[in-house]
This record gives sequence, C-alpha cells and structure tokens, in this order.
Amino acid sequence: MATNGRILLVTGNGKGKTTAALGTAFRALGHGHRVCVIQFLKGQGQYGERLMAKRIDNLDWFICGRGFVFTKENIDEDRQVARDGFALAEEKIASDLYDLIVLDELTYLPLYDFLPVERIVAALRGKPQRLSIIITGRDADPQLIKIADTVSVIESHKHAYENGIKAQKGIEF
Ligand code: ATP
Ligand code: MG
Repeated sequence: MATNGRILLVTGNGKGKTTAALGTAFRALGHGHRVCVIQFLKGQGQYGERLMAKRIDNLDWFICGRGFVFTKENIDEDRQVARDGFALAEEKIASDLYDLIVLDELTYLPLYDFLPVERIVAALRGKPQRLSIIITGRDADPQLIKIADTVSVIESHKHAYENGIKAQKGIEF
C-alpha cells in the first residue's frame, strides 16, 4: 500500500535547514525513492551538493534563482525567475513522478512578495497523496506553518561566521 506523503517545513535563523532537507533526500534515495530538488533564489555556484547530485540516480535538480542579492534595478527579473521556478514546482508536484520534492528557500517568495502564499498552499493541498514535500527558508509564513505536518525551527546559538570564519567548502557550500 502506498504511504501518505507529508509536508515538512524547516525554518529559523540557525544553520542546517537546506542540509536537513538534503539529508532527508539522501535517506529517501537510499530506498529507491524518486526525488526532485528545486532551489529558489540561490544562483549558480559550485555547491558540493550540486556536484554530488549529478552522480546520483533518481534525483532531478533545478536551480531557479540568480543569487541572493536583490537590487531595485533587477527585482522584476528576480521576481520572474522565482515565479517561473514556482510554476516548475507546480508542474513537478502534479507530475506524480516523485516521492519527495524539496523546495529549498521557498519561504522567501511570499516574504518578498514574489508570489502569494495562497498559491503555495493550493499547490501543497493538491499534491499527489504519496508525495512528501520539504520546504526550507527563514521566517516561514504562518500559513505554511499551519499546513505543514512537521515543522522544525532551527535556532542559532552561535555561528563561526560571527567570529570572522568565512564560509567553508564542504561545510557551508
Ligand atoms: P545549510 O545550507 O548549511 O543547511 P541553511 O539552509 O540553514 O544552511 P541559509 O539560511 O539557507 O542556511 O543560509 C545560507 C548560507 O548561510 C549557508 O551557507 C549557511 O551555512 C549559512 N548560514 C546559515 N545560518 C547562518 C548563521 N546563523 N550565520 C551565518 N551564516 C549562516
Ligand atoms: Mg538554506
């Protein structure tokens, strides 16, 4: 019997949201599940997880962003890239090809007014039964917290960055 998929949300200011979602993806892949990762707002970059993803079967990975720096001049283009990314997410959700979809940094889309949160809620409500979805990002909208089955808030007690330690290969990217 097919199991029911769940909606998981990983939010908060502490480090570990994206990597928690990818850890779950790793777990699902181990069982032969099909996984899709869609990354919003992040630009192209040599993230270790992306380099590794190319070597894993049953994993589709999409990047829908130009990087996290928003300037007034480029905001319309950023909004459009984000919306196109969400249209892709809707398509992948509806496809029923996957057991798990990770929507990384999705919380920022309603936060920046790139997309109404109601549209995300509608997509989550209409998901195929077996599909699990993990959403990550800071400051999750209350409607996302409400619809999720499992919500984890990662708190930051300290981060090496505050002591001047720069982002490190293999740990931050
Ligand atoms: P990770 O990708 O390591 O799981 P994250 O998804 O929780 O982190 P984001 O909010 O997406 O964190 O932050 C993007 C980048 O900033 C990542 O490289 C992350 O390691 C780093 N980071 C996360 N939390 C903090 C923090 N409290 N202070 C400084 N840098 C942070
Ligand atoms: Mg993240």
